Amino acid sequence: MRIGFEPHHEAFRREVRAFFATEYPARVVEVLASGRQPTKQDHQTSEQALSKKGWLAVNWPRECGGPGWDLTQKYIFDEELERAGALNVVPMGLIYVGPVIYTFGTEEQKARHLPGILNSTVFWAQGYSEPESGSDLASLQFKAERQGDTYLLNGTKIWTSQAQHADWIFCLVRTSKEAKKQLGITFLLIDMKTPGIEVHPIITIDGKHSLNRVTFQDVVVPVANRIGEEGKGWTYANFLLGHERTSYAHVAGKRRYLQAQRDWLAQVEDPAARASLAARLAELEVRLDCLEMTVLRSLAGAESEGSAGDQASIIKIAATELEQDISENALAFIGTPGVPWHAHSSVAQPPAGSNEALTSWAKRHARYYGARAESIYGGTNEIQHNIIAKKVLGLS
Ligand SMILES: Cc1cc2nc3c(=O)[nH]c(=O)nc-3n(C[C@H](O)[C@H](O)[C@H](O)COP(=O)(O)OP(=O)(O)OC[C@H]3O[C@@H](n4cnc5c(N)ncnc54)[C@H](O)[C@@H]3O)c2cc1C
Repeated sequence: MRIGFEPHHEAFRREVRAFFATEYPARVVEVLASGRQPTKQDHQTSEQALSKKGWLAVNWPRECGGPGWDLTQKYIFDEELERAGALNVVPMGLIYVGPVIYTFGTEEQKARHLPGILNSTVFWAQGYSEPESGSDLASLQFKAERQGDTYLLNGTKIWTSQAQHADWIFCLVRTSKEAKKQLGITFLLIDMKTPGIEVHPIITIDGKHSLNRVTFQDVVVPVANRIGEEGKGWTYANFLLGHERTSYAHVAGKRRYLQAQRDWLAQVEDPAARASLAARLAELEVRLDCLEMTVLRSLAGAESEGSAGDQASIIKIAATELEQDISENALAFIGTPGVPWHAHSSVAQPPAGSNEALTSWAKRHARYYGARAESIYGGTNEIQHNIIAKKVLGLS
């Protein structure tokens, strides 16, 4: 048995690695390495460098502006991006709503929205969750009343990532109350500049501002901004969630972090502490190898079947739990000097003038806290277990 990549894929890897070493903006890599939160400008600088190369919308078909890569090329690209310490793309436009628009949108919608996503000039937010509707998303109550050629919107969306930077938001709204709650939901594209929309920041445990509550009061949106048919939004939403859950593995980023922890191990003086940390690191490395094999196996299956399918739920659980354990292990190397950071509410940004140790501790804590959310967003891990029980194991 041969485990590895074909020669043409290895050649592709060299090409991608050379791009990140020579053409990708070094300033963005520095921002991430310093532990600072990337700005909208940083995201645009990164995405426009990828766009110039034709490597931004890697999941899109060639006829819509994608590079036409196979799944293995996409996997190699993701690996090299993380290996280089580059910035992951903001998924809302490129991974979520873009495919919905080119699959279900009208020609006008495609012409209006796809170019801005492809050249990273227009940022999107995802307005699905509501204060009373998260896992049970189909229970959403956000009200959209049809008034001739427009909808009148009233309601609240919550946990809306990057809404403070968004030019547009795609929302699930309720256009009618049906006996079956999945019916009567409609998928709308909404300009964030429309009067009546307000963005309220939510600061998370890692000190970052990424989440928001977005309120809509008497917001008027043209019917022409609707995707597909009224009341069929659940179908488009499910299509989108399939795309969302396949993008969680981040094997190379985890490998990089475990390698850093191996380097820290050499500096641990106490033999007993070193032995225990080494054993824990070995366990995490084995789990990462298992995750990588699972991803590759799923890719091999998907190359023939066309999508990563329900295995995406297995990968989501394994990858997010592993990230939580790896980021927790990084704190074990700090020991008692790091304790004040646990109590500090603003750990994401290292204080100005921080020395190398403080910067490193701040980054480790930010990553640790950030990882807690991974088992919540994109469908909680409990919900993923339910999907595996029903769809993979066939239990009802
Ligand atoms: C960092 C972050 C970013 C996010 N970004 C966005 C975004 O951009 N746009 C957006 O729309 N949403 C976003 N979300 C929201 C996210 O999708 C929801 O938080 C998630 O779907 C869970 O919903 P909830 O928070 O209402 O929890 P609930 O659904 O209330 O769940 C609470 C607990 O009950 C468990 N539970 C619920 N139902 C079941 C069940 N049937 N079986 C077993 N256990 C169950 C859950 O697993 C969880 O542990 C984000 C969340 C986070 C943390």
